[in-house]
Amino acid sequence: MRIGILGGGQLGRMLAMAAHRNGLTPVIFSPDGGCATAVTDQNVIRPWDDHAALDAFAKSVDVCTFEVEHVPLAAVERVAARVPFHPNPEALKPTRDRLLEKQLLNGVGIPTAPFVDLTDDEDAARNVGNTVGFPALIKLRTGGYDGRGMFKVTTPEEAVAAFRELGSPCIAEGWVPWVRELSVIAVRTAEGELAYWDVGENVHKDGILRHSINPAPGLSEDKAQTLRDHARRLLEKLDYVGVIAIEFFETEDGLVANEIAPRVHNSGHWTQDGAWTCQFENHIRAIAGLPLGETALRRPAAMVNTIGGIPPLSELLADPRVAPHLYDKTARAGRKIGHVNLTADTTDERDALLDTIVAMCEAAGR
Ligand code: AMP
Repeated sequence: MRIGILGGGQLGRMLAMAAHRNGLTPVIFSPDGGCATAVTDQNVIRPWDDHAALDAFAKSVDVCTFEVEHVPLAAVERVAARVPFHPNPEALKPTRDRLLEKQLLNGVGIPTAPFVDLTDDEDAARNVGNTVGFPALIKLRTGGYDGRGMFKVTTPEEAVAAFRELGSPCIAEGWVPWVRELSVIAVRTAEGELAYWDVGENVHKDGILRHSINPAPGLSEDKAQTLRDHARRLLEKLDYVGVIAIEFFETEDGLVANEIAPRVHNSGHWTQDGAWTCQFENHIRAIAGLPLGETALRRPAAMVNTIGGIPPLSELLADPRVAPHLYDKTARAGRKIGHVNLTADTTDERDALLDTIVAMCEAAGR
């Protein structure tokens, strides 16, 4: 079976490795190569608007998926018109627009921050204060990620300035007084079978995920169940096949969704070593029509991103609890070039090891 993957970054690379593991053949389509093309010899290096190349690629695979939402929707739709494609493009559309995304979430009973669409200066001057209140975040509706494309504002004047600076359709969101950020990662098959991994806690700095802790310390079973129920309703509504991640804020009063990632997600990388079956494996299984693997926790785990540099490999490999996953990317300030998973017998042991690995990764990234 040949598995098409649109996009050639690290997520595509790890999906391709999971396909190989099952004896399936991954085929990467990517305009600029990328680290996924190092693990498969079946690569199509063509621009996203090369229709003939996309059509030939679609014809050459049995099923197709994509690795990140930056793949243009037109390319996704073109391929999806020719070969089974998961998750389906209709499910992807709302996740690419913060306004549609929030409407979708609210529509299936998942709370979000209050929000309002901004179309002109007048909206920015009046509606932000009236509807969501200050402080607020002005965010690009499409295209922003990793903390880019957004401004925190505290007055109508700042809201107008932010709206002008962003220069595209925006939304304003009320500020959520969150205590921590959580993510739930789930997978659904075409038959509607569902599985969930343990909910993790995510720690960001400068808008980029630094590490995640799995399972999230002290999370009540009630809240974990609420998050699984939220994920199930969303997946069913979208008739979704594959892995999805939903990021939440935990507040004093409850859980508020922030955003949906319609794909394998950085906050799920820990599953490679901390769960019986990882997110990449189950995504491939779901889209290929194979039975899902067990998602239960094997051992308390954590994941640390290596950003801008990698600690000495020999030091990481000397500890059997530590598993580096490197992407074969050139180190550059602020660039994610790998991650380090760690597992332990107890959460205390995990927390101590996490401190050590975070310090090593920060030192390597400086
Ligand atoms: P996003 O790109 O929407 O994921 O936002 C990046 C980061 O900004 C999040 O991980 C939060 O730390 C913070 N953030 C985003 N939206 C809000 C909000 N409505 N209230 C408080 N913090 C937010």
